[in-house]
Amino acid sequence: MSDTELVLRSRRVIAPEGTRAAVVAVSGGTIAAVLPYDTPIPAGARLVDLGEDVLLPGLVDTHVHVNDPGRTEWEGFWTATRAAAAGGITTLVDMPLNSLPPTTTVEHLRIKQKTAADKAHVDVGFWGGALPGNTGDLRPLHEAGVFGFKAFLSPSGVEEFPHLDDDELARSMAEIAGFGGLLIVHAEDPRHLDAAPHRPGPKYADFLASRPRDAEDTAIARLVEHARRLGARVHVLHLSSSDALPLIAAAKADGVAVTVETCPHYLTLTAEEVPDGASEFKCCPPIREAANQDLLWQALADGTIDCVVTDHSPSTADLKTDDFATAWGGISGLQLSLAAVWTEARRRGHGLEDVVRWMSAHTARLVGLDGRKGAIAPGHDADFAVLAPDETFTVDPAALHHRNRVTAYAGKTLYGVVRSTWLRGERVFADGEFTAPRGHLLSRTT
Ligand SMILES: [Zn+2]
Repeated sequence: MSDTELVLRSRRVIAPEGTRAAVVAVSGGTIAAVLPYDTPIPAGARLVDLGEDVLLPGLVDTHVHVNDPGRTEWEGFWTATRAAAAGGITTLVDMPLNSLPPTTTVEHLRIKQKTAADKAHVDVGFWGGALPGNTGDLRPLHEAGVFGFKAFLSPSGVEEFPHLDDDELARSMAEIAGFGGLLIVHAEDPRHLDAAPHRPGPKYADFLASRPRDAEDTAIARLVEHARRLGARVHVLHLSSSDALPLIAAAKADGVAVTVETCPHYLTLTAEEVPDGASEFKCCPPIREAANQDLLWQALADGTIDCVVTDHSPSTADLKTDDFATAWGGISGLQLSLAAVWTEARRRGHGLEDVVRWMSAHTARLVGLDGRKGAIAPGHDADFAVLAPDETFTVDPAALHHRNRVTAYAGKTLYGVVRSTWLRGERVFADGEFTAPRGHLLSRTT
């Protein structure tokens, strides 16, 4: 430990092999060693004793809509990355849409990177977008360092990001598979959405009926069949329908390279509890019934679902009207995702180790950052969250660092207070205060 500049000591360090009392030695922003709790601290190293607070790897959130530049009034890199740090997230990967321009060419990627560069309080990477007609842009974007490509199979909600039809999906997937890339998909089938009943207004039941499970199930089945045929790697975004789980499990058992994420709101909120007119609960696919939620938890436990990400997708408050048909669809979750998921996980008998696996280790692996992020292990970046897991707080929208404080979690009492967040061995958040931005822009190739 001779070069050690910092030592974090905790009775509960969540390491890949389990939770134990340990000291974590940091050198040059990297974890140098994880050693027994009573290891002598080297002269010259700064000791931070965390007592009973838990040291966990900083979360890696691979599904965030930052919307900067272009719709910065919805969210921006400054506010999103502060909210992330306050929530124990040390890496986020930005979705290619809702910003203007969308991340669909190398030139657009450069604009996004330039915008984020001096505002990132945590590390930031980028997804590219697969649109009808941009197949020729995919390989250059891959080589420029995006972590993969997002496509929609139904309208995205913004006109500059059109969805792929079946032929276009196959074409994009074949191109991406050709260079070993990853295709991530918003899977709802537009024909099933069109055929569903559409009754505008404030009733949540009407909105839920307009986004039926079979729209998800059909689209996922189609996606899996293309992936099977092409030998492509695909990822199902924000799974809500538990009816799709058997076909996903079967595809995985067959060796199809499909991974799946779900989100805190599907795991912690239910259709039954959404008040009429409360469009802060609107997202697509929608929050479904409690019985559906039980099956999502079961699928997380058995590995059918790989990871949990926020799909943080805010808008200004005026777009969250009380008509579910026209209100903006998207839920803000960055700052609250760890506490929300942990609160429900502990109620269902899961450990913090499980939460870390779903929200840090597996998301890091999804984007190929395992080996560097998502674990408290030698050689990894010294990115940490320090959590008081048994302490509770009541969600006060005024305490959120998101640009817009509309939240579906208002008034909820959650377990898990983030005491501090560390990025490459520097404490970037503690007690409501942030340092100057020191996040790096991440690229698949570096
Ligand atoms: Zn999204």
